[in-house]
Amino acid sequence: MGSPTATTNPFPLGDTSVSADWVLPVVGQPMANTTVGWNTSGTITNIVAAEAGSSPKSTGGKKTILTPGLVNTHTHLELTFPRTIPPDPNGIFSNWLSSVIATVQQVSQQPNATEQLHRRIAAGGSQALSSGTTCVNDITRCLETPAILSTVGLRGVVSWEWFHPAWDSLDTEPITQAFQKFQQAFVNLPLLKAGLSPHSFYNVSPAALLALLKACEDSPPWLIHAHVGECNDELAWLHQQPNGLDALHATMRGQIFGPQPHHSQAPFPHWLHYLTHHGVLPSQQRWVLAHGAVLSEEEWALLAQWKQQGFPVGVSHCLQSNQWLHQHSIPCEQVNRALKCSGLLSIGTDSPLSSPEPSQCLDIRTEARALQAHHGLPAETLLQLATVGGAQQLGIGNTIGQLTKGYQADMVLWEVPADVPCTTAQEAIEAWLHPQTTLKAVWVNGTLQQLSNSLLMKTHHNKSAEKRLPALE
Ligand SMILES: [Zn+2]
Repeated sequence: MGSPTATTNPFPLGDTSVSADWVLPVVGQPMANTTVGWNTSGTITNIVAAEAGSSPKSTGGKKTILTPGLVNTHTHLELTFPRTIPPDPNGIFSNWLSSVIATVQQVSQQPNATEQLHRRIAAGGSQALSSGTTCVNDITRCLETPAILSTVGLRGVVSWEWFHPAWDSLDTEPITQAFQKFQQAFVNLPLLKAGLSPHSFYNVSPAALLALLKACEDSPPWLIHAHVGECNDELAWLHQQPNGLDALHATMRGQIFGPQPHHSQAPFPHWLHYLTHHGVLPSQQRWVLAHGAVLSEEEWALLAQWKQQGFPVGVSHCLQSNQWLHQHSIPCEQVNRALKCSGLLSIGTDSPLSSPEPSQCLDIRTEARALQAHHGLPAETLLQLATVGGAQQLGIGNTIGQLTKGYQADMVLWEVPADVPCTTAQEAIEAWLHPQTTLKAVWVNGTLQQLSNSLLMKTHHNKSAEKRLPALE
């Protein structure tokens, strides 16, 4: 029974709305000439055909596409250095890791080290946001990371990284206290969740992880984010071949831990067998395994089986990092198999230090184009992996990752050049990935984010942000 005057508000949709030539909800069919509205809580309240003349904000033959915000499931934003660290000439991964540690130790000696660290995190966060990522799964050693990412405007999970390779010592009290302190850094940051990152299982013993989880069972981490199966050297370490691991521990921890119990037992064929043997996996606790580049066929089958049984575990595929450092990544046939198992695979980027092109490293569309070239995946699959796939893996797939009523408005408006085909739904999906398509606007939880590539952008609670901050490094 609407009166004719109801049209004075052309968008009775919510408090705010945006129209686009194409809305790609990811779950559901692409919608031409559509408006999405949301309320002050950032919740999508309606998705309807755009009013004549209200849409789309394209000019000069350009078209607009609205997608969910992208999700990057493996980052180390504190390693946003403006350069890369090339692979070790002898192909020894522990040497590369030692170079990373040396770089971090070197900058931590500088007088403005803390300021530089905070600036690297903010710069990485804003690089991600300005390329369309609205949600990250980050690993950090810095207590300020949650506050900085909140100010940048990102959503996500930030996991506290720790190392504890000693099997014979279960003195995890200091680590437990540090993690509990880290959890307190998330108070009043509703878009960010506290996770735990035992860096890898050559750097953390399963017993130490279980002891820490036991100590934190009243307030468990949102998820566990660990490097698993990144390269063949890791497998050698599992198979009783120290091959640089002792030297790495000497650099990292100032001591050598020597043969571990698994060295004297029948070797485990793979890391997942090792973790299963020690009662770490599978688990009701959510897990994101970073890389998984050398997981065997048998391990992929095990992961798929766990998913079917309801265990929340997934792999963050970081193709460019793997290719750059190890000239190897998850084989295409394993990727194709994993794609049949919803939520098993997502897209991550790792850090600029492990990227062929540091300035592009945090751009998920660049990573998706690499996946397209290497695995032959269609744009539609890549959009799914980069949105709903990542959101599911992080345990927030009922909040973000798709444009659906009741979901939170994490969204990106893209502008497609006039000469890129964008008339049909299929063309619109492909245009999303086109290198000349640019980001026009990005919202996180319904809030339009100010974008800036400048390192002088709003930095967390540094009130003197206006003053010229030193360049990175
Ligand atoms: Zn990593």
